[in-house]
Formats: sequence, structure tokens, C-alpha cells
Amino acid sequence: MNGNSDQQQKVDVVVVGAGFSGLQAAHDIHQAGFSVAVLEAKSRIGGRSYTTSLKTEHGLIELGATWINEHTQPRVFELAKKLALDFVEQNGQTKSVIQDFSGQVWSERGELIPQPPGVDYEDAFPFMELMEKLQSTINVTKPGTIGVPDQDMTVDEWLRQNTSQWNREFISNGCAALVGRDAKELGLHYLMDYIKSGGGLGHLAGEGPDTAQHLKIKQGTSAIAQGLADALPEGSVLTNSPVTAITQLTSGGVHITTKNNLTFESRKVILAIPTNTYTNISFTPPLPPAKRTIVSSTKPGIYAKAIITYRRPLVA
Ligand SMILES: Cc1cc2nc3c(=O)[nH]c(=O)nc-3n(C[C@H](O)[C@H](O)[C@H](O)COP(=O)(O)OP(=O)(O)OC[C@H]3O[C@@H](n4cnc5c(N)ncnc54)[C@H](O)[C@@H]3O)c2cc1C
Repeated sequence: MNGNSDQQQKVDVVVVGAGFSGLQAAHDIHQAGFSVAVLEAKSRIGGRSYTTSLKTEHGLIELGATWINEHTQPRVFELAKKLALDFVEQNGQTKSVIQDFSGQVWSERGELIPQPPGVDYEDAFPFMELMEKLQSTINVTKPGTIGVPDQDMTVDEWLRQNTSQWNREFISNGCAALVGRDAKELGLHYLMDYIKSGGGLGHLAGEGPDTAQHLKIKQGTSAIAQGLADALPEGSVLTNSPVTAITQLTSGGVHITTKNNLTFESRKVILAIPTNTYTNISFTPPLPPAKRTIVSSTKPGIYAKAIITYRRPLVA
């Protein structure tokens, strides 16, 4: 429902953001017997999961989150099963295509990364070796133990010292695909942590079973968000309600204000929004300095997604 009341409401917990995180939190709070209100800035729920349909074709497309893997994402897999959603396996038997920096496209069946003539992939060994080490039990919080400086550096700086220009540009493009930022703005320690916690490079970048690109949801990933919202009491989720101010009261409670003049008083507030968007909210008292540093230095990944549909399946 749209938020349109200027009356102050009292709930046990206010959740800011109606993406997967916020809705799951609200769901758990409700299950535990507490009252909850979810405040969402946009006109729809789901956040970075956004299933929609093409105007000219049948079927659904995903503009955000698309795949899950039952082994590495068991909780969301179980949730989707509980919501009686259907799974469609991604076809892993596809052609890999690579476009090099001259614009030329190379394609080979069965190769994760086709090798253009004249390019020596051995140059990329230091990077691949690092990736392999990441998949073992090495502690990424102690980079010195895997031959990476303890002092953080950008991925670009590390690649300049350890690989050729072609591979540096190629790996940089891979970074942009993986986290939506350029290797020049990406900390090496952060990337290592990201890749390790994502199950390794092969898992993150591959297609099919045992990779992050395994199961699609027939009804769309937005059906997960909708299923969570539907399980809440009616009126718990308020869209078009961007939170602008959060004030801690001397009584111990929290006062929350939205741009559309909704006000809430709650015992607790949960922020389930991207860290960089905290800057849109005025906090009283201000967030601690360490938190402010994280908020001001976190950058979102930037993606443009293009979807091509074919009248019939392409057969090689
Ligand atoms: C293009 C793309 C593809 C992806 N593919 C996959 C995939 O295949 N598999 C996978 O597992 N993950 C994938 N992800 C990641 C996945 O979508 C996210 O991890 C997940 O959706 C994040 O959920 P969240 O609830 O933490 O945050 P979000 O989905 O970002 O939700 C935060 C919500 O908070 C709202 N909000 C922000 N500020 C305020 C405010 N001040 N007041 C009120 N509301 C506010 C936002 O509008 C948003 O709805 C993909 C992401 C993108 C962008």
C-alpha cells in the first residue's frame, strides 16, 4: 500500500527498505510475535530484485537478481521452495564469447575464457594462482599469508605489478562485471574477500550446476519478495515512503520520519538499505565516526543490463 497518513504510528520495529533483507527481517519479527512496519522509498517492493515482462514478448525478464544456487544459497532456496516457486536450470552448455579491446569477438565452445591468438594467458597466472589460494582455507584478513601486501592497494595497482597489459585489461573488465566497479577504484583486499565469500572465481563466473548462475525462478525473483510481504499483516509494507530522519529518543525508543510525512515511534529500527544511501537519512545523534567513514566511502556497483530475445532457440 502507499503511505499517505500523517498520523504517528507505534510499532515494535520499523524496517527501512523492502528488498529481500528488509522483508526477511520483517517476516522474522512478525513470526516472533512483534509488530512491524516496513518503509520503502520506491513505488514497488523487491529492491534490486525486479522481475518484469517485455512489452512485445511473453514471459518474464529479470532486471536485477536472477539466479540462485541451492548449495551456496540454501536459505533463499528453501524460502523459494516454501513459497512453492518453480525452478528452471540455467543451460551451462553454452558458447563463451569474449570481446577484446580492439572490439573483436572471439568464441570457442566449452572454454570458460576463449584465448585470442597472440595472447599469452600465462601472464595471468599470478592472478589465477591468487584466486586458487583464495579457494583454500587461507584467511583473507591476513593477506601477507597469500603473498599479497598487508597494506591494501587497488586491484589495478596489483595487476600492473603482476601481469601484462592485455591480461590486466581483461581482468579489469572481469572485475567490472563481477562487482560493477573499475579495478582502479577497487581495493584488492575487498575483491579477495568478495571472491572467497562467493565460493571462488569459477563459482561466481560460471554457468550451470555448482555455479552462482544455476537456478532461475519461473515466477521471477520478485515473487520471493512478494511472498514475504504477503505473509505480513495487511498494511505492514508502505511504499513511496523514503525515510529521511531517524532520531533516538531519550526514552530509549526511536522516532522515524518519511518524506511523505509519515511518522513512527518504535522500540527498534532496522536499516536494510545499501550503505551508500545512509547519506539520505539524517541521524540524531549522528552515526559513530567509523560508521560514517564506511558510509561515505562505499560506492554502489553500476550495471547496465541488455536482454536479447530470439524467436526460436539457436542451434550451433
Ligand atoms: C543487476 C543485478 C543482478 C543481480 N543478480 C543476482 C543474482 O543473479 N543472484 C543473486 O543472488 N543476487 C543477485 N544480485 C544481488 C541481489 O539483487 C541483492 O543482493 C539483493 O537484492 C539485495 O537485497 P537487499 O534487501 O539487501 O537490498 P536492496 O534490494 O537494495 O533493497 C533495499 C531497499 O531499500 C530501499 N531504500 C533505500 N533507501 C531508502 C530509504 N531512505 N527509505 C526507504 N527505503 C529505502 C530501496 O528502494 C530498496 O528497495 C544482483 C543485483 C543486481 C543489481
